[in-house]
Amino acid sequence: MSQGTAIVVGSGASGGMVARFLARAGWKVTILEKGPNYFSGLGGPASGVTNSWANDEIGYEARTPPIGQDVTLEPRSFRNAGADSTLDANGALPDREFVGDVNTLPTTVGGGTLHYDAKARRLREIDFVANSAFAQAAGTSPSESAIPGANYADWPMQYRHLEPFYAVAEEIVGVQGPASGKPGGPITNPNPYESPRSTPFPMPPGVGQLNSLLTYYAAKSLGYGAAPVPTSIVSRPYRGRSACVDCGYCLDFGCPINAKSGGVWQVNDAMAAGATLLANTNVIEVLFRSNPGTGRYSATGVKYMDTETGTTGTMGADLVVLANTPIEATRLSFMSQIGGPDGLSNTDPSGQLGQNLMFHLQTTALAVMDHEIHSCRGRTSTHTNDAFWGSGPSAADFDPTVPRAGICEMGGNLNPVQAGTEVAAFMYGPSLKTYMSLAPFSNRLAAFTLQGEDMPQTTNHVDLDPQIVDVYGQPVPRITYRSHPYELAASAYYAPKMLEVMEAVGAPGTPYPEIHPIFAASINTTLPPVLPGEADQVTSQATNQTPFNDIPASRHIMGTHRMALTPDGGPCDPYGRYWNFDNLYHAGGGLYVTAAGANVTLTMWALAYWVAAAINTGISYGSGIQTSYASRDVDDNLSKLTAQIGRYDPDTMIGDLFNTGRYPYSTFGSP
Ligand SMILES: Cc1cc2nc3c(=O)[nH]c(=O)nc-3n(C[C@H](O)[C@H](O)[C@H](O)COP(=O)(O)OP(=O)(O)OC[C@H]3O[C@@H](n4cnc5c(N)ncnc54)[C@H](O)[C@@H]3O)c2cc1C
Ligand code: SF4
Repeated sequence: MSQGTAIVVGSGASGGMVARFLARAGWKVTILEKGPNYFSGLGGPASGVTNSWANDEIGYEARTPPIGQDVTLEPRSFRNAGADSTLDANGALPDREFVGDVNTLPTTVGGGTLHYDAKARRLREIDFVANSAFAQAAGTSPSESAIPGANYADWPMQYRHLEPFYAVAEEIVGVQGPASGKPGGPITNPNPYESPRSTPFPMPPGVGQLNSLLTYYAAKSLGYGAAPVPTSIVSRPYRGRSACVDCGYCLDFGCPINAKSGGVWQVNDAMAAGATLLANTNVIEVLFRSNPGTGRYSATGVKYMDTETGTTGTMGADLVVLANTPIEATRLSFMSQIGGPDGLSNTDPSGQLGQNLMFHLQTTALAVMDHEIHSCRGRTSTHTNDAFWGSGPSAADFDPTVPRAGICEMGGNLNPVQAGTEVAAFMYGPSLKTYMSLAPFSNRLAAFTLQGEDMPQTTNHVDLDPQIVDVYGQPVPRITYRSHPYELAASAYYAPKMLEVMEAVGAPGTPYPEIHPIFAASINTTLPPVLPGEADQVTSQATNQTPFNDIPASRHIMGTHRMALTPDGGPCDPYGRYWNFDNLYHAGGGLYVTAAGANVTLTMWALAYWVAAAINTGISYGSGIQTSYASRDVDDNLSKLTAQIGRYDPDTMIGDLFNTGRYPYSTFGSP
């Protein structure tokens, strides 16, 4: 029997997971996706799903990217939120300083997880309670932001609440990783910076790539506990999909053999359970009614536009989940008069919808090696060094004097054509030949990317651009943003340590003593000429970039729909529901409270399962909804939510632990 009808907007990581859960739990689900569908056979066995991808670098680089958002048709605008912007005569910010690609994610069935490179990280115990930890150290109140000038806060749930949801997500999605052992424990984890786990990864790590391995051993030689990075790419045949063959066309490309784990596989499961997918369907308004005398609202459905014909239509449903990314979910809400300056009364009692927008501040160090290290082959980054994430994984380890930054991805490359187009504008003739034969960026590059925690600030926000519209006639999202001094200081603190690791490649005792960097540099370092002749230009151009460009480079997008225990704390309740709506939800990175320095998508998957399970149990749907929560409510609700894992995913290790009463509560603290 159908539980009811649900519309899920967006078919990426979050939308796929919500749709999968609800469809398996008996809801009649329709997934509306703005982008096209490049897969066939969805809804059947995974082994029968085919796609349109090929290892065709020219196809991706030289023509319009088939899966990226076309920013000519659908641009975004940007302005700097800070004092160094050009203010107008009234001291106001300009309407915009840039129009084009501002942190866009792919627009296609499967969303951003089609061409990401799939590092799949859990947050740690400390990341959920860092504000309290800072406040305790400073002797201030944990209910105030402990970081001056930021809107820092604890999450409404803790690691022990989300741990089972991380575990089920890792199995459903298909994540490889190094922690091994027996479900329920003991689990052996070579990464000392992570919090405890209840289950091992469903498959071991794949082959380490030389550029990651070189820097992994360098980090080890300096005493850092670097480790293989959990990755949502299957290293073994898994649930009907082929194992990765390390083809090298991972970051920015679709996987031709379906080894990359992404939202499309949850869409596939959802369709197998009866969900309907409508691609090329752009949702342009959330329809809702006000419930007289209550000050509350109910979503009734959506209005959409067929992107191929331009025709519009409406669709009704019992509930609506906006899983179309933090920025687009804000834009859609504002276009629907939910929150924002034109929002109907009390549609966002927090007044924070669209605010606290966060990315990760990426600090990059790179080295060019004297040997070819074939960095354009294999997966982009197979190891991380988490020593720069801040002190300890638990609250007990917390030290406020150690800056919180994030994980440091070890790897990096440019594919050959990418590397060529980088220099095409200014290099030709003999110097281009020298450059091509040296291949510094495709064959000799090792890079680190530090995913630095970005402070939430109410002034960093999304709204609707007052003038610019997209090809569908809809106002484009405008991003107003500026880095906080905390993350800039943390970046400056760790950049020299990253260089130190680079310079230790080939150190005594490491397995590759013959390989050394020709140079190692952090971006924004002025280099001496290191390559012959004009070939030096290219390395200088790359390394002399401004590190803290106004527009953040990261595609890790968080905030805008902060979860909170009470309506004044953020736009959504602890289960993703818009506070004054009975049946409107956000699933995705918007729910993040703090940015916590690690790749974002696994937490989005865990939260999407959490949101869907809360809907299905009635905790956040129907008569069960609450108008505010205390921490103990989140505790009290936990067993209802975890029972859903046992019920709807009994074939997972974590589902079995719940079904047999073996979940190791003692490790995580009982609710
Ligand atoms: C190059 C690159 C590398 C990355 N690497 C990593 C990594 O290593 N690890 C990691 O964790 N993350 C990584 N990411 C980020 C990751 O892709 C995103 O975090 C993730 O895809 C977000 O999931 P989501 O469900 O919120 O959104 P998405 O997966 O982007 O899905 C949202 C979907 O909603 C659709 N949509 C938007 N608006 C509408 C509308 N109005 N109507 C209908 N549909 C709509 C979009 O077309 C899209 O398909 C990377 C991203 C990029 C671009
Ligand atoms: S490296 Fe592996 S997951 Fe990535 S595209 Fe190639 S085969 Fe697919």
